[in-house]
Amino acid sequence: MYKILLIEDEHGMAEGIKDALDLHGFKVTHAGNAEIGEDLLETETFDLVLLDVMLPGRDGFEMCRLIRAKGLNLPVVMLTARNEEVDKVVGLEIGADDYVSKPFSMRELIARIKALLRRAHSNKQIPDMFSFGNVRVDFKTHKVFCSEEPVILTGTEFAILKLLIEERPNVISRDKILNEIWGYTFCPDSRIVDTHILNIRKKLECEPRNPEYIKTHHGIGYRFTG
Ligand code: CA
Repeated sequence: MYKILLIEDEHGMAEGIKDALDLHGFKVTHAGNAEIGEDLLETETFDLVLLDVMLPGRDGFEMCRLIRAKGLNLPVVMLTARNEEVDKVVGLEIGADDYVSKPFSMRELIARIKALLRRAHSNKQIPDMFSFGNVRVDFKTHKVFCSEEPVILTGTEFAILKLLIEERPNVISRDKILNEIWGYTFCPDSRIVDTHILNIRKKLECEPRNPEYIKTHHGIGYRFTG
């Protein structure tokens, strides 16, 4: 049974999400603010965090940064009431894996959660250890090192890197990445893929603007060349 930490201050919203997820067999623990959420993350193990953006005290963006700063690479889904594009981009840049805009349908939320959990726990045939340039990826422990220094990748960044390595030397389309990683069957916004690729390059490529390993094929997608 997957354990989900829900950090949401609106009681009615939290109850609705909890009931829907309970029905689908998830175990949901609710925290009414980020501080309680932080305590729970220190004492319990979770498979995924649902994180509201607008919270009293520390907001969802700060909380997401804190989760990554602690080195936790579990999937984080942001729940945002605001529709501004800037929120989505900021959310992804600070290490969120996905976001849903309120009001959302429970069906949509559950589909996203299932997709994130499916690929967080997928086990395709791939060597335990893979190296390129001065980067070493340990698929068994989900750890990445650059010149033997640990690099923190989010769950989604790690999954995209894994997919690119698995499919090398083929080009993978943005649609395929969206489908494999987020479970989308059509493209809501392909910039979500580009933003994540940009983040991976910043973390692993010596020259992110002139990448040596994760190449862009304009109008098509991406290819790993290590
Ligand atoms: Ca709120």
